[in-house]
Amino acid sequence: QADLAMYAAKESGRNTLQFFDPTMQATALKRATLEAELIRAVDLAQFCLYYQIQVADEGRVIGAEALIRWQHSERGLVPPGDFIPLAEDSGLILPLGDWVLSTACAQLARWARNPRFAELTLAVNLSIKQVREPDFVNKVTGILARTGANPRRLKLELTESLFAGDIEDLIGKMHALKACGVSFSLDDFGTGYSSLSYLRQLPLDQLKIDQSFVRDLLIDPNDTAIARTVVALADTLGLSVIAEGVETRAQQDRLRQLGCFAYQGYLFGRPLPLAEFEALVRQVRATA
Ligand code: C2E
Ligand code: MG
Ligand code: MG
Ligand code: MG
Repeated sequence: QADLAMYAAKESGRNTLQFFDPTMQATALKRATLEAELIRAVDLAQFCLYYQIQVADEGRVIGAEALIRWQHSERGLVPPGDFIPLAEDSGLILPLGDWVLSTACAQLARWARNPRFAELTLAVNLSIKQVREPDFVNKVTGILARTGANPRRLKLELTESLFAGDIEDLIGKMHALKACGVSFSLDDFGTGYSSLSYLRQLPLDQLKIDQSFVRDLLIDPNDTAIARTVVALADTLGLSVIAEGVETRAQQDRLRQLGCFAYQGYLFGRPLPLAEFEALVRQVRATA
């Protein structure tokens, strides 16, 4: 909400007399403060990655999704929803996105040297701004080469917002990275503007059922129908499917009935700092 207010202020701020509105001024000030702090946070290395486990049935661990956190000196742990939109808007998402990808790939390279974790895949969220950069493909291959990460263990998460832009450009970049072994997952699927023809053209590997459809899976027949449709669509297109936001055993059971066999959500684990994530992986395997 706060971010939306910031955007509204920015958008309406062009060529208007909003400076005389004290709430707008407060919002603009808050935004400027946050932006300044965000820039400083990059230098102060206040960001870190949390890892959320992804599992298949029978407790098989598939891998993790890397989720950024900002360790703010006064505000505590700031969730990405509170600063990613601003980072995107200010262009700071480019250095920040590089940091996320480099950190994730360095972790993949470390896991590769440990038989216990060598098979894990790591999913990394990308902003549309990053993908639209002309040197995006070189950026990713450069980071892979520098860190020594196996591209086959890296999964890049895109959202349907990308479909609004140059689709040929997107397809070309995806093909180039897929040729190196990188795979792609479509995040928050069902909440955006997917067109079936784009879905068919894009070299995707996975659809991610958005948590908004998982939440009321047992009480809302529409959500069940949507989940069933996403599974069928993935099947038709030859893609795998994973559900996010799985919080209860009943949701997992229903998803399995619908043909979805991979899950991510609080039921299996919250996003965790590295050491805790690794402990969770050991524990899940030990009890499987
Ligand atoms: P997302 O990629 O869809 O990530 C899933 C979000 O759902 C995460 O929120 C996760 O903590 C939360 N979640 C996972 N399981 C459950 C559950 O069972 N119940 C509920 N209620 N929530 C669950 P988080 O970490 O706050 O991230 C929010 C969004 O911020 C992400 O959504 C992603 O779009 C964005 N984000 C996170 N890290 C990055 C990053 O490194 N780069 C970019 N560009 N965006 C990021
Ligand atoms: Mg994601
Ligand atoms: Mg998502
Ligand atoms: Mg999301």
